[in-house]
Amino acid sequence: MSKVALITDIAGQDGSYLTELLLKKGYTVHGIIQHGRVPDTESVCDDLQANNPDFYIHHYGWGEIFDLGKLLALIRPDEIYNLDITSETATHSTLPVARISALRMLEAIRSQGLEHTTRYYHASSSALCGLVNGMTINEMVTFNLPPSDTVARVSDFWTAVNYRETFGMYACNGILFNHESPRRSESFVTRKITRGLANITQGLEKCLYLGNLNALRDWGHARDYVKMQWLMLQQDKPEDFVIATGVQFTVRQFVTFAALELGIKLRFVGKGIEEKGVIAAIISPVAAALKVGDVIVAVDPRYIRPSEVSKVSVNPSKARRQLGWAPETSLQDLVIEMVQADLASAKKRARL
Ligand code: GDP
Repeated sequence: MSKVALITDIAGQDGSYLTELLLKKGYTVHGIIQHGRVPDTESVCDDLQANNPDFYIHHYGWGEIFDLGKLLALIRPDEIYNLDITSETATHSTLPVARISALRMLEAIRSQGLEHTTRYYHASSSALCGLVNGMTINEMVTFNLPPSDTVARVSDFWTAVNYRETFGMYACNGILFNHESPRRSESFVTRKITRGLANITQGLEKCLYLGNLNALRDWGHARDYVKMQWLMLQQDKPEDFVIATGVQFTVRQFVTFAALELGIKLRFVGKGIEEKGVIAAIISPVAAALKVGDVIVAVDPRYIRPSEVSKVSVNPSKARRQLGWAPETSLQDLVIEMVQADLASAKKRARL
């Protein structure tokens, strides 16, 4: 008998990669989608549905209370991946969505008598750590003063821990740091950069406007991170894990790598909101329509956040030690994959 998995927010980047991974492993996968959710991966979901008889999508309407108990009674999942769907920052636009809280899901599991058979993964996030500038984060982090829109997520985290300790349920949290891919929404800086620069090479845009170029982030590939989510549910006992690469780059470095992949050598001039990315050399025909001296990156104060974590280091060694997990994709390879996907799409749009 194949294992059955339930994934919430199948329309997101992680939901789509996790679905692909589990289908490859022979699982039957059920995904939940809410109408009104702006999908990151509509076409991926459609393709998966068209080509996999073991993949089912369950829709529910905006404002509708989804009957989780009924679904769990029907499909009796071995594993549930609750991928939280809302992003915290005002710049992200995945709303409107109604979260399925850890409490709701864990209670639904109990109400169906599945508490000793169904394993529960909760997608926690680095946002829980709050304003932890300069700290090194591992599983021992205390959540200090999270932003108000993250309070519900802190509650989810502790609910999963509480159900594990109180009811002996297999419930765990993955505290994931930034993970990107060509399926990332454009409200995140990586995708905004790869799409923006690809558009510029094809004459679809003139300049990419960004906020804090000095911000440091630990960026991994979402495809690597969903493997870790699966691994977390395959252990003898449930535990929480921090997931990150352990290596950080600045937004400016990400821009530089993406430009290079498009055949553009950039030089940054000026400081603060006056900083600009100027073309220093064109090294591939992809960027042949541009010329040396063109300003293609500039700072727009509208994208500078009033307060944020601009520097944090992460120690994911527990995941390496206990689960043998290590990210397989380097930042350079991630950039190449994202740029090439956006370049292909920009070329298509430029031809229209
Ligand atoms: P986050 O780590 O979840 O906030 O992921 P983001 O991709 O939204 O932001 C990563 C970093 O990029 C943050 O430090 C932002 O301040 C910085 N950043 C600089 N310019 C931009 C921009 O134009 N858009 C976004 N989303 N972030 C930007």
